[in-house]
Amino acid sequence: MGVIMEIFSNIRIMDVIDIGIVAFVFYKILMLIKETRAEQLIKGIIILVVMLKLSEWSKLYVVHYILMNTMTLGVVALLIVFQPELRRALEYIGRSKFLSKSMEASDEGFNSMVSNLVNAVISLSREKIGALIVIERETGLNEIIHTGVKIDGEVSSGLLINVFIPNTPLHDGAVIIRRDRLMAAGCFLPLSETQSISKELGTRHRAAIGIAEQSDAIVIVVSEETGTISVAMNGKLTRHLDVNGLTTVIRNGFMTEQTKPLLKKRWIFKDDITQKD
Ligand code: ATP
Ligand code: MG
Repeated sequence: MGVIMEIFSNIRIMDVIDIGIVAFVFYKILMLIKETRAEQLIKGIIILVVMLKLSEWSKLYVVHYILMNTMTLGVVALLIVFQPELRRALEYIGRSKFLSKSMEASDEGFNSMVSNLVNAVISLSREKIGALIVIERETGLNEIIHTGVKIDGEVSSGLLINVFIPNTPLHDGAVIIRRDRLMAAGCFLPLSETQSISKELGTRHRAAIGIAEQSDAIVIVVSEETGTISVAMNGKLTRHLDVNGLTTVIRNGFMTEQTKPLLKKRWIFKDDITQKD
């Protein structure tokens, strides 16, 4: 009893503030990464940090020494495990408005590309033909394009629908659109490793989220099973979009800072960001 009293009498007000700050910062980070791959890992780190502090106070020098070294190793491990997320974050920071090479909503050809694309997606959805369409933005997707068959043709509804007709050579995999060109078909996308994807979704949706985690691309998925139209962007999947929702998502995706005020009204999705149902 005396020992416990002694420990408590040794805790200064600054220690309480110290813990408070750490707890607050970690809480904020936790909220940010909730339901992402980093969640479990951060929980582990929090336990480590708490144990580190406890071992320091209780003067368990060997335990403290081992924990300190584990932390150092952990930082290196983090860099490796979260390489895709870090890459995306750095790319995001490095994305300069001046170097922007991607299409803008005001560009000639953009409207025609969007209407062709939307028409094709609606037809595919109605016929329940599975489709996976990646629209490149600022992150270059050459590596992905090389995994498929090069086409480099102008985007048209007919071409898009034709590519996804079942049992044809190119229907398996994803199509990549750059500006108003259909660059390639039958491309292989990286699968997302997140665990928060609804169980009813298969590899097509997982692949869409995967490329949306590793790039800033806009990815459209048509489900073969239900005809549902979904869009993956910034690692998040929005399901059950209709014609208007789809058009708005694509158009907004290509708004620049100059053109944005025209369309400031945020689109409310019928089913906002549902990875988990
Ligand atoms: P659906 O609702 O259309 O059934 P799903 O999410 O259940 O979609 P699956 O049924 O597993 O997915 O769909 C398989 C198809 O998804 C494959 O035939 C292939 O065309 C496509 N696909 C799967 N993985 C990838 C990938 N890594 N890259 C590109 N396309 C993929
Ligand atoms: Mg399926």
